[in-house]
Amino acid sequence: MLVPEGHTIHRLAARHAELFGGDKVLAASPQGRFAEGAARISGTVLDSTEAYGKHLLHHYADELTLHVHLGLYGKVTDGDGEPPEPVGQIRLRMSSDRHWLDLRGPTACELLTPPEVAVLRARLGPDPLRADADPQRAYARISRSSTPLAALLLDQSVVAGTGLIFVTEALFRAGLSPTLPGRSLTRTGWQAIWADLVELMTLAVATGRIDTVRPAHLPEAMGRPARVDRHGGEVYVYRRPGQPCHVCGTPVSRGTIAARNLYWCPRCQVQGRAPY
Ligand SMILES: [Zn+2]
Repeated sequence: MLVPEGHTIHRLAARHAELFGGDKVLAASPQGRFAEGAARISGTVLDSTEAYGKHLLHHYADELTLHVHLGLYGKVTDGDGEPPEPVGQIRLRMSSDRHWLDLRGPTACELLTPPEVAVLRARLGPDPLRADADPQRAYARISRSSTPLAALLLDQSVVAGTGLIFVTEALFRAGLSPTLPGRSLTRTGWQAIWADLVELMTLAVATGRIDTVRPAHLPEAMGRPARVDRHGGEVYVYRRPGQPCHVCGTPVSRGTIAARNLYWCPRCQVQGRAPY
């Protein structure tokens, strides 16, 4: 199981603005665990939505903000017209005259005041999918740390929204070892990784899947079978242990960093040498 990466949350924010933005929303908690919060937003207008890293925010009238973090098990479903009979543990059901939405199993589903929203933003690093992101803020942390680069990029207080797939693949594309200490990363190296994260994550928002392979390494270009994996998408090293690197043919390595499975090519990912 993986926590959804930032592109999924940005897609949800856009979707919810499209379904409910500017409308008066009815809210309830069929399961009961968010009954009080749902009662407070019910009947108010959803002004706007946003994603910040893996956090989804709905801003309602009267300075009420709904904060959702899906965690490992959270799921959102929606539809048109009348909502169906509630099935299972629905933490939050939203509905308008035109649409409905159900939220099940989130790690967080709570109302925040404006100061609490500010606290949440302050504890998150820059999000490559946000126009207001300042990548230098992340580099200030990375360049002072001896922690492996992969662990830093997975730390949401350093960069927000990146998960295992984007981090693994961006390090491959940069030709950098996941164990490189943060302080060994040059400013130029960081600028390249950041630009790559922006590109890969923006593409994932558009397509709804994570593809990181350049045209020359696509199945049709290489005459190899397409990847079969429930996460979808063509990738270089993520969850490909022992399989040949698409660039050099060396078997992909697997190891653990910060209690996460990491994958890399031991030949392509040498400090400062991009594989192509
Ligand atoms: Zn390789």
